[in-house]
Amino acid sequence: MEALYEGKAKRLWATEDSQVLRMEFKNDATAFNGEKKAQFDNKGRLNNTISTLIYGQLEKAGIPTHFVRQIDDTNVLVRKVDIIMIEVIVRNVSAGSFCKRTGIEEGRAFGQPVIEFSIKSDALGDPLVNDDYIRELELASADDLVFLRAAALKVNDFLSQLFSRAGLRLVDFKLEFGRLTDGSGTIVLADEISPDGCRLWDLKTGEKMDKDRFRRDLGGVMEAYEEVLKRLKELS
Ligand code: UDP
Repeated sequence: MEALYEGKAKRLWATEDSQVLRMEFKNDATAFNGEKKAQFDNKGRLNNTISTLIYGQLEKAGIPTHFVRQIDDTNVLVRKVDIIMIEVIVRNVSAGSFCKRTGIEEGRAFGQPVIEFSIKSDALGDPLVNDDYIRELELASADDLVFLRAAALKVNDFLSQLFSRAGLRLVDFKLEFGRLTDGSGTIVLADEISPDGCRLWDLKTGEKMDKDRFRRDLGGVMEAYEEVLKRLKELS
């Protein structure tokens, strides 16, 4: 059987249920739009377990997601969606491309969360776009954007508190959303939520506990992911 889709860190497989897919987490790590590549033992398991834990909590908090259930260490079942081709980034503290774009130093806490959209396209390098671009490219309607912003803020509030209880500062993160293919057009949260797509700093030491350890060759990448998982598990 062939995967329906293979991305940088995951594969999607069909199941007997046409509305449900199996999402497999790979051990591959990439950064800088795929230019930097590596493999880490246990990465698939760690991200799957962290993401499953977080999705469980989000569902409990009443945030609709694509998540169905975990099957094993590296696989979950998810509802089939048409992914909205926009990456929704939420920032609480300056870091990464925000600093590059503005010249502002890393670590400035924002008065309010900053939300930005980029086109989900490796070929274009995920360019930052505004609402007008999104409308003209027909990636989402004005109403969809209102919904996406509100959902992103709600997820941010929830995750900021969750990570804070785990001694971690949620600096920024990326979300993806999809439309259910059951005809309802309902938008749900999709993709993984893991240290691959979040910046997490230790609340006490400021140590980076996320993919920046790989991007910046800081070492101890999987040790940091393991620690994030351990702390989240201790909460539940
Ligand atoms: N992010 C991601 N996928 C992307 C772009 C960003 O998961 O294609 C995450 C990234 O890990 C960080 C946040 O979104 O937690 C903001 O990323 P930023 O725009 O600063 O880009 P970066 O400089 O990390 O590529």
